[in-house]
Amino acid sequence: MEKIKVKNPIVELDGDEMARVMWKMIKEKLILPYLDVQLVYFDLGIKKRDETDDQITIEAAKAIKKYGVGVKCATITPDAERVKEYNLKKAWKSPNATIRAYLDGTVFRKPIMVKNVPPLVKRWKKPIIIGRHAYGDIYNAVEVKVEGPAEVELVVRNKENKTLLVHKFEGNGVVMAMHNLEKSIRSFAQSCINYAISEKVDIWFATKDTISKVYHAYFKDIFQEEVDKRKEELEKAGVNYRYMLIDDAAAQILRSEGGMLWACMNYEGDIMSDMIASGFGSLGLMTSVLVSPDGVYEFEAAHGTVRRHYYRYLKGEKTSTNPTASIFAWTGAIRKRGELDGTPEVCEFADKLEKAVINTIESGVITKDLQPFTEPSIDKYVTLEEFIDEVKKNLEKLL
Ligand code: NAD
Repeated sequence: MEKIKVKNPIVELDGDEMARVMWKMIKEKLILPYLDVQLVYFDLGIKKRDETDDQITIEAAKAIKKYGVGVKCATITPDAERVKEYNLKKAWKSPNATIRAYLDGTVFRKPIMVKNVPPLVKRWKKPIIIGRHAYGDIYNAVEVKVEGPAEVELVVRNKENKTLLVHKFEGNGVVMAMHNLEKSIRSFAQSCINYAISEKVDIWFATKDTISKVYHAYFKDIFQEEVDKRKEELEKAGVNYRYMLIDDAAAQILRSEGGMLWACMNYEGDIMSDMIASGFGSLGLMTSVLVSPDGVYEFEAAHGTVRRHYYRYLKGEKTSTNPTASIFAWTGAIRKRGELDGTPEVCEFADKLEKAVINTIESGVITKDLQPFTEPSIDKYVTLEEFIDEVKKNLEKLL
C-alpha cells in the first residue's frame, strides 16, 4: 500500500517514562507505516532538558510557532523528588507552561466518547470541552493577613492616582489583591473563537458579573468585543456564542447533552476541568490541545507520564496502559495539518485511525483503566501492545 503524503512537517515533542514507551509504539506501528510525513523532532525527555538547560523546550516552542502544528508526549515536571531520581541540575519548569507562555495559548480539554464507557451524567451525549484561561486572578494574587484594627487601601499610581478603601478592620482578617491583563483576556477569547470555529462547537462563557461589576464585567466585555469582531466567521461556521452567569452555566451543563466549548476563567477552569474529566470517565480518554491566538495548535494527551506503570515496565512486566489519548493527540495533529495544507486524504487517515481505536474499545478490547467504567461490564483486559495491535488490525480493515 502506498503511503499518504503529508505536505508540510509536524513538530514532534517526545517525553518521559511510560508515555514515551507508548509514544514510540504508536509512531512505529500506527503512523509511520501509513504516512509519508516529515517530523521535526525534539526530545523533551527529562535528561535532554537537563543537558540543554531546558533550551530544547524553547527551541521546540519556536518550531511549533514556525510550522503551526505540534504533537507532544507527556513529560515529567520535576519536583525535589524527581531532581534526586534523575540527578538533575535543578527542578526545571513545566515544559507545558513554557510552551504555553511562548505561544500565549489556551488549553482545551476534550473527552473521547465510546459507547461502552458512558459518562456518569446520563444526559451527556457529546463531549464538553473546557477552555481555561491560564493567567492571573488568584494564581498571581498578593495576599496578606491583617492584624486589626487596621485600614487597608488599594492604591493605583498612574495619571489618575486612585485610592480605594478595601476595608476598615476592627479585628483580625485577611486581604487579597488579584489582577489580570487586557492582552491576556483578549488572547484567551481569540483562542476560544479559533477553537470553536475549528471544531464547530458553540461557545459558552460565564462569569459572576452581577457581583463583580468591574473585574468580571471586564472579562465579559472583552470576550463580547472579540466575538463581535469575528461575527461573520462564527456565523459561517454555525457557532453560537452564549454569555451566562457562572451558577446558571454550572446548572445548565448538567442538564445539557454536551457538545459545547465552556470557556472558563482561571479558577473555575481549574475546578470544572477536573469535574468534567471525572464525569466522562478515565484520564486515558482525555485529550488536550493548546491553541494560540494566531492559530497555532499543539496536541497532547491530558494525562501524565503514567509513572507507576513505567517502574513495572522497567522490571520487565507487561502493563495495561491506555494509549488512546496519545493516539488522539497524533490524529488531532495529523487532521489539523491536513486542514491547513488542504489535503483531505490526510484528514481522512486521522478519522480512520480514530474510528479504529473506538471500534477496538467498543468491540470489548480494553485496557485495565477502563474496566470499572464499562457498561455492560467487561471482565478481561489486554496489555498495551495487544491493544495497539488490535487497533492496527481494525485500522487496516478501514484503509
Ligand atoms: P498521571 O496522569 O501519569 O497518572 C495519574 C493516574 O492516572 C495514575 O494512577 C495512572 O496510573 C492513571 N493513568 C493516567 N494515564 C493513564 C493511561 N494512559 N493508562 C492507564 N492509566 C493511566 O499523573 P501523575 O502520576 O500525577 O504524574 C506522573 C508524571 O507526569 C509527573 O512527573 C507529572 O509531572 C507528569 N505530568 C505531565 C503532564 C503533561 O506532560 N501534560 C500532565 C500531568 C502530569
